[in-house]
Amino acid sequence: CYNCHTTATPLWRKDEEGKTVCNACSLYYKLHSSARPISMKSNIIRKLSR
Ligand SMILES: [Zn+2]
Repeated sequence: CYNCHTTATPLWRKDEEGKTVCNACSLYYKLHSSARPISMKSNIIRKLSR
């Protein structure tokens, strides 16, 4: 995935610029009209543990 660099997704999609993105990133972009922040899921745990 161009956005989150995952290699596991049920469905590959392409964004407006033709970049290959995963299903989750594509749906997020359509909902929020902005790229899905990758740090959102992992950074929260790191901040709490530090
Ligand atoms: Zn992605």
